[in-house]
Amino acid sequence: MKRIVVAGASLAGLRALEALRAEGFDGELIAIGDEPELPYDRPPLSKQFLTGDWDEERIRLRRQGVEDLDVTWHLGERASALLPDERKVQLASGETIAWDALLIATGSMARELPFGAGLAGVQVLRSLADARALRESLGSGPRVAVIGAGFIGMEVAASCRQRGLDVTVIEPLAAPLIRGLGEALGRHVADRFRAEGVDLRLGAGVEGFDGEGRVEAVRLTDGKRLPADVVVVGIGVRPATDWLAGSGLDVRDGVACDGAGATASEGVFAAGDVARWAAPDGTPGRRYEHWTHAVEQGVHAARRILHGESAGTLDVVPYVWSDQFDLRIAIAGEPSAGDDSFLCHGSLEEGRFLVLFGHEDRLCGAVSFGRPRQLHAVRRRIAEGALFSDVVAENA
Ligand SMILES: Cc1cc2nc3c(=O)[nH]c(=O)nc-3n(C[C@H](O)[C@H](O)[C@H](O)COP(=O)(O)OP(=O)(O)OC[C@H]3O[C@@H](n4cnc5c(N)ncnc54)[C@H](O)[C@@H]3O)c2cc1C
Repeated sequence: MKRIVVAGASLAGLRALEALRAEGFDGELIAIGDEPELPYDRPPLSKQFLTGDWDEERIRLRRQGVEDLDVTWHLGERASALLPDERKVQLASGETIAWDALLIATGSMARELPFGAGLAGVQVLRSLADARALRESLGSGPRVAVIGAGFIGMEVAASCRQRGLDVTVIEPLAAPLIRGLGEALGRHVADRFRAEGVDLRLGAGVEGFDGEGRVEAVRLTDGKRLPADVVVVGIGVRPATDWLAGSGLDVRDGVACDGAGATASEGVFAAGDVARWAAPDGTPGRRYEHWTHAVEQGVHAARRILHGESAGTLDVVPYVWSDQFDLRIAIAGEPSAGDDSFLCHGSLEEGRFLVLFGHEDRLCGAVSFGRPRQLHAVRRRIAEGALFSDVVAENA
């Protein structure tokens, strides 16, 4: 193998490039990224970068530089098509690049509303360019409306409030973060935000925007009108697979892969937000949109590219964190509505605690508010397939 091409020059792509060199690959490495930047970290965009505490230098993913990786970077260039039979990737400029192996790491894109496109003051937050524009617009002390109370929406709301701005969050469900935390813990988060002065409009949908050229208000489905100067739309992401149309790859909700990142097309692999890896037992898996998964999959896919099936499959317990005000929320595993639960290591009143989740007496997940050490121990127990009742007894 002489040349490996990585499409998508961000977290999963960079970690794969680093792993390829660490594993001794001394051939040619090419990275294609449609953003003009070298890889940077996205989590601070809604947190320390937005509050103004961190600058751009601080969010680089490889602050000591990338030169030692000896990668040819095609930055600000979009991959527009995959030609698997010719083993080539085409760029929007028309140039084609041949590969012996290709890693697809094009991540995900923020979903947009079906209205409001082109209206100044309405934006999503996915890239550094989005974050720069948002941070800039916060300088004039605007009234901020956040649509969607998922992780990104709540982080943006907290950061804007920390800057002293008037912030309203609009969410159709009954509590924030319901999909990750469930309703009871979501209500706990809602209380904390209200105590900080954030206006939460729960059970409310958005019908449209008022304003000519620039947003002036958000129209809610209950008929109310919410004046706003800046609107951040945080309604989830979708995998960046548009450029793979016609490639023959299965891209239904992400690029379908085996449990090590190989697609059904010879020499083509995928990792990170864009990829849907099979479970270790071969059953279809789901796509994750978490930082830790992108790292673990990027590294594992690199090994799979170099060592073939002897690299084995990746078997990790999902992990995601989110920081909002002083809430340090983290989730391990996949808790879901209807699971048994057990609260330990603190209380809601203290604001620091761990909740264990079990399904048919199997430990399936845990949520931590400020209990990272205990969460990591429980994450290991999930990986071991521990019984819920045993882990409850250990943590009681
Ligand atoms: C604001 C924000 C905050 C977050 N906070 C957290 C957090 O607290 N905790 C957590 O676990 N996760 C968090 N995440 C999620 C985490 O950052 C992602 O899971 C991670 O970035 C995924 O890495 P990736 O490399 O797979 O994809 P991405 O980071 O999306 O990178 C993909 C890259 O490919 C580029 N690209 C797309 N299409 C093409 C194309 N056709 N040609 C060339 N390049 C292309 C994209 O522009 C991008 O640069 C956050 C994400 C955001 C946006």
